[in-house]
Amino acid sequence: MDVRSSVVTRRDALIDGHWVQADSGARFPVLDPATGATLEEAPDMGAAETRRAIEAAARAFSSWRATPAKQRAAIMRRWFELILAEQESLAQILTAEQGKPLAEARGEIAYGATYIDWFAEEGRRVYGDVLPPTANDRRQLVFKQPIGVVAAITPWNFPSAMFARKVGAALGAGCTMVLKPAEQTPFSALALADLAMRAGVPAGVVNVVTARDPAPVGEELTGNPLVRKLSFTGSTEVGKILLRQAAENVQKCSMELGGNAPLIVFADADLDLAVKGAIAVKYRNCGQTCISANRLLVHESVISEFAARLAARASELKVGDGRDEGVALGPLIEEAAVEKCERQVADALARGAKLLLGGARHKLGGSFFEPTVLEGVTADALIFNEETFGPVAPIVAFTDEAEALRLANATPYGLAAYFYSRDLSRIFRIAEALDFGMIGVNETLMSSEAAPFGGMKQSGLGREGSRYGVDDYLELKYVCLGGM
Ligand code: ADP
Repeated sequence: MDVRSSVVTRRDALIDGHWVQADSGARFPVLDPATGATLEEAPDMGAAETRRAIEAAARAFSSWRATPAKQRAAIMRRWFELILAEQESLAQILTAEQGKPLAEARGEIAYGATYIDWFAEEGRRVYGDVLPPTANDRRQLVFKQPIGVVAAITPWNFPSAMFARKVGAALGAGCTMVLKPAEQTPFSALALADLAMRAGVPAGVVNVVTARDPAPVGEELTGNPLVRKLSFTGSTEVGKILLRQAAENVQKCSMELGGNAPLIVFADADLDLAVKGAIAVKYRNCGQTCISANRLLVHESVISEFAARLAARASELKVGDGRDEGVALGPLIEEAAVEKCERQVADALARGAKLLLGGARHKLGGSFFEPTVLEGVTADALIFNEETFGPVAPIVAFTDEAEALRLANATPYGLAAYFYSRDLSRIFRIAEALDFGMIGVNETLMSSEAAPFGGMKQSGLGREGSRYGVDDYLELKYVCLGGM
């Protein structure tokens, strides 16, 4: 076992307030992607443990929902403060199991925590309605009530923040939760859950089940009628599987799926700002985010200048172990991610693209990949059509606004889109015409707890964060009083 395993604070799963092993005692290794060494082992659980966690969450629901929102908020606020107090140790765990630079890991911990704080407060403002009656002898009301036990399945790219975003909304609304974190990164979630216990979150309100094989756990989470809602963040492919499974019990679903974000640079753009924004949104987390710019669409009149500046800036990004000073690009999560980048680069080059920077595995070996810039990429290229999830920036030329829009919307995905322009009427025109759930105008770092995060088309269902985010965890109940 690697000495770095000392950063892990909780190595067992959490069911009904107890830290537990798998029934079989089996564990599975979690790797440090920067070194390839085993960081620590997590319990390898299955359907039986998941069922117990669901039953615990169902028991805890009756008292958590009855706890006044103000009291729930006080507990959540303590949790939020503990997370901030432990920001550094949580960031160390996150970087060790996920690979991102420590500075980004610290940012993710703080970002995730804001959702717990936010939803603690939103939970206190879940108001029902009194309707104008449709007859004099009636009174008509709308109650908003917590939906019940929530299942959450989260990905490895933001293992801390994706859990926080879901559990914040669930607990604020009065729901309880069973989480299955990604098999690559279970320890960030366990560490957060540990702090929840220390903050006074009652036993059973938050449960975390870890597993090497997600399928049996997912089948129980969707097949068990006690689970009333599923909140998933991950690939569109797995989202579709889970939606099919959730149909059996007609579970309410929130789905935050894949993206294929365009970043459009119009001729009137502030190029300095556009290059800065593109670097931030393309290379953050080594390109492994669902809102990473996946296609840089640039007007033909500024493309050479933009491409040269982007390549120059990207070449300055230091690649290495996320724990090392000054590193901007950590390793990719695993070998398959490296192979996907290689495949997309080779395909683009075969279709006539020009390599301006990088294009290959980094000399550090392992799953490190060079920051890469390709110019002259065409709409038939793999990289134009598939999510990259790596540090490869493909630049595509366009000639007018209509073509830019057509290219941008030419995808079944609809999560985030970005564009750079200084023309106010164009800004409104384009923001209205882009079929994406989140639009960054002259800005690429736009996510916050106060704003609705989510996508259109095959990028998902529902919104997380903001005042809208709590709705996904509530049932509306209409109450009609007659004979008044
Ligand atoms: P990625 O491509 O980012 O790894 P996935 O969609 O494969 O995205 O994974 C996201 C989450 O979904 C992870 O927690 C993973 O374990 C889980 N997952 C993958 N396949 C299934 C499945 N068949 N049932 C339930 N969960 C799954």
